[in-house]
Amino acid sequence: MHTDILSPEKDPMGQAISDYYKQGKADKLRVFSSQFDEDEIPVKQLFRPLKEFPILERTAIDMASGKILDVGAGSGCHSLALQQLGKEVCAIDISPLSVKIMQERGVHDVRLINLFNEQFAGSFDTILLLMNGSGIIGKLENMSAFFRKIKYLLAPGGSVLMDSSDLRYLFEEEDGSYLLDLAADYYGEIDFRMKYKQIEGESFDWLYIDYTTLSLYASKNGFRAELIREGNHYDYLVRLTPAP
Ligand code: SAH
Repeated sequence: MHTDILSPEKDPMGQAISDYYKQGKADKLRVFSSQFDEDEIPVKQLFRPLKEFPILERTAIDMASGKILDVGAGSGCHSLALQQLGKEVCAIDISPLSVKIMQERGVHDVRLINLFNEQFAGSFDTILLLMNGSGIIGKLENMSAFFRKIKYLLAPGGSVLMDSSDLRYLFEEEDGSYLLDLAADYYGEIDFRMKYKQIEGESFDWLYIDYTTLSLYASKNGFRAELIREGNHYDYLVRLTPAP
């Protein structure tokens, strides 16, 4: 698992965020994967305000309390919403370009650091991972490192709020059965690569995980998973709390 930050020459999303903030518009942010057809992330969506948050995000923002950590904060949309609501938040991201924009947009406490960097310490009551926040875990094999890190960062009584989705619908047959190769890697382990203008990012791993699998890993790693709410397309919000 990588523990570094991005260089601006290899940070397509950060450049798109920067352009959109400075010019009010951006080119296409293209997404490639060996598993899917080419796709696009609407850059405007990365700047969504509180009133446009999907229900799972809105629920997480309302539940977040105390000292909050916004992991992979992007343009700062959730951190700004939390500040508007009078909540205390620290935003972290590995994109120097995005971190700069968050500072310019008024996020008070922003840090350019990788969640998995050993230097990153703190004590948080709520840790937020949103917009398929489980993605940052990358692969199932990183699950124990993830739980170790959040255990280290959580204040007593604190918890993680994270959204994810179950990709099994991609393998659903017309008769409702699922065509999954049980010998293959877990079906939610996806590789992505992004491109914006001439800027190409490195390929990275992004994990989508179903609730049952996540619960199993949580209990193996000393955590309790609770399903807070389901979205309308195989997505859900989960709370992870260290088991007593
Ligand atoms: N949460 C934001 C952005 C989601 S995109 C939103 O909902 O709009 C994911 C973000 O996570 C990107 O900005 C990326 O730079 C950042 N990121 C990826 N891996 C990370 C890591 N290991 N530590 C911190 N940030 C990370």
